Amino acid sequence: MAVQQFKAESKKLLDLMIHSIYTHKEIFLRELISNASDALDKLYFKSLTDTTIPLKKEDYAIHLAVDKGLRTITISDNGIGMTKEELENNLGTIAKSGSLDFKRENTADDIDIIGQFGVGFYSAFMVASRVTVISRPYGSEEAYKWESTGAEGYTITPCQKDSFGTDIILVVKENVDEENYDEFLDEYRLVSIVKKYSDYIRYPITMNREHSRKKEGTENEYETYTELETLNSMVPLWKRDKKDVSEEEYNNFYKEKFMDFSDPAHVIVSKTEGSATYNALLFIPGRAPFNYYTREYEKGLQLYASGVLIMDKCPDLLPDYFSFVKGLVDSQDLSLNISREMLQHDNQLRLIRTTLERKIKNELTAMLRNEREKYDEFFKNFGLQLKVGCYEGYGAHKDTLKDLLLFHSAKENKLITLEEYVQAMPKAEQTEAAEGTEDSETKEPETTQKYIYYAAGSSVEQLAKLPAAERVLEKGYDILYLTDNVDEFALQVLHEYEGKEFRNISSGDDLGLETEEEKEAAKAQNEENKDLFAAMKTALGDKVADVRLSTRLKNHPVCITSEGALSVEMEKVLNSMPNAEKVESKKVLEVNGSHPIFGVLQSLQKSGNTQKLSDYSNVLYNQALLIEGLSIEDPVAYAQAVCSIMAEKAE
Ligand code: ADP
Repeated sequence: MAVQQFKAESKKLLDLMIHSIYTHKEIFLRELISNASDALDKLYFKSLTDTTIPLKKEDYAIHLAVDKGLRTITISDNGIGMTKEELENNLGTIAKSGSLDFKRENTADDIDIIGQFGVGFYSAFMVASRVTVISRPYGSEEAYKWESTGAEGYTITPCQKDSFGTDIILVVKENVDEENYDEFLDEYRLVSIVKKYSDYIRYPITMNREHSRKKEGTENEYETYTELETLNSMVPLWKRDKKDVSEEEYNNFYKEKFMDFSDPAHVIVSKTEGSATYNALLFIPGRAPFNYYTREYEKGLQLYASGVLIMDKCPDLLPDYFSFVKGLVDSQDLSLNISREMLQHDNQLRLIRTTLERKIKNELTAMLRNEREKYDEFFKNFGLQLKVGCYEGYGAHKDTLKDLLLFHSAKENKLITLEEYVQAMPKAEQTEAAEGTEDSETKEPETTQKYIYYAAGSSVEQLAKLPAAERVLEKGYDILYLTDNVDEFALQVLHEYEGKEFRNISSGDDLGLETEEEKEAAKAQNEENKDLFAAMKTALGDKVADVRLSTRLKNHPVCITSEGALSVEMEKVLNSMPNAEKVESKKVLEVNGSHPIFGVLQSLQKSGNTQKLSDYSNVLYNQALLIEGLSIEDPVAYAQAVCSIMAEKAE
């Protein structure tokens, strides 16, 4: 009989399993029971439409047997079974490539990632030196035996099996120095493993167990007898009261079912009766799946109809902005054989979605209020999705999401909410502009801060150095530093928060920083120097829309601001998108009237030194671009211009 080789990927994985570095070898049983349960589900599901299947719900079962002498553990099910081809395809190969690379990278850690890529069956080789699978598909007379000792490959031969279903027989490895395998032949140990990982399996997991009793008619003589026992409680985890379920049980359930190797950050248990009757068990993952922010990621919750799985990933149950939520919904109102298309239009489902959405939002809000560190961590993982959600659909969901957003505060140097920003706005008497305000004692003082300020760029460090930030901060106003591409777009969609509009400190818009007198003074100074600014504008040509006096600068000579809705940062973001049509923001060069350089510019203009004024204007413009984190068009010309100015000074 020819021994067939495992496919290359499978072989590598098998090696990993045989020389297992996983400390929780016991999970092999969970994997095999879970496969058996799936096989029962499949047959049960088929029986809903195929009335020739003679089984009643209570006939489906998983049976465990141990033989210490032969060193075997047998896991049997009367499920759908496998054909010869299925044995070959399901057990001889691993469909998903890529998964292995991922595993390799993580092998150093003691993490339990078995099962997450459909490699569950192979975990049998962690404890078994030989694995035999005998299977007969439902509706067929033919049975086949798949057998493997691991590395050598496997064989498939015809065999005899009285009824449909699958038996998996493991020959448990001999003990070696540092590893005790005998424990898996211990009945109590197996029972405790079943209880720990598979208690909620909806089919009975049975085992013949030995007990002892007093022999009838004797005083002190005992006899042993065996009895078929069901080991699991069969109540699905989501049907149990939250208070009766341990954190560990929820965590294990999550990891096994949703293929994650870290514990969830948060568990949400929800039960409703009335217009929609359902149980929901939802999880917020502790970290973003590696493909979360890619197209491959599919959102969705498992959907059960009265305890029977009818869809593995029902996308209609979650809005996109909560797509990170994993979990399941078990509805009492849905019919078992509802089609995918019908589901989409199902009112019941829509109702569930609305309540779940509210529930998720409430839980996140509570976490934000009561467990801030945990929320910060959550936001690091999934905050981007919430911000995108705010922006998408022209802001249709902004009211749901705006209070869940966090942004980096310049003053606090940590993430804060918009509510916190507004609450921390300085009150009237705390700011210089408020002097002379009356009746500040009687009323809660109002803030003089008109806007919510923000700056957008690639890093907090870069933003903290922006010339325009100085004056805003000096006024006692905080600035939100935005570093995700989507941030500024999201804020534009939000437009305002509690009546305070958002203002980019680098936009040409009024920042509301000056008093009326200061404004007048600036206007007059602008007017006085209008020829100078006109000359500078001529020197810079199309590069800028305008040159004007700045009211936002303190120590820097110049800065770039933008006019209109498109900011300089948005220009960068949009132009970096693949295949994007190029956009250009309207840039304005603002000059600081109290900087010494300004005097130099004035005298150049007065003395009619047009060439030098033009050179200086270009150097200043390029400097402003560099500070803003933008690239300059002609670095060589810029360097030459700077050098020639330096050379001139030395003369
Ligand atoms: P997964 O269960 O994650 O798909 P496994 O390696 O555990 O990956 O199993 C591979 C496949 O083998 C399963 O998807 C299933 O089709 C089949 N299989 C495994 N065990 C059984 C069983 N007891 N009865 C029927 N089919 C099974």
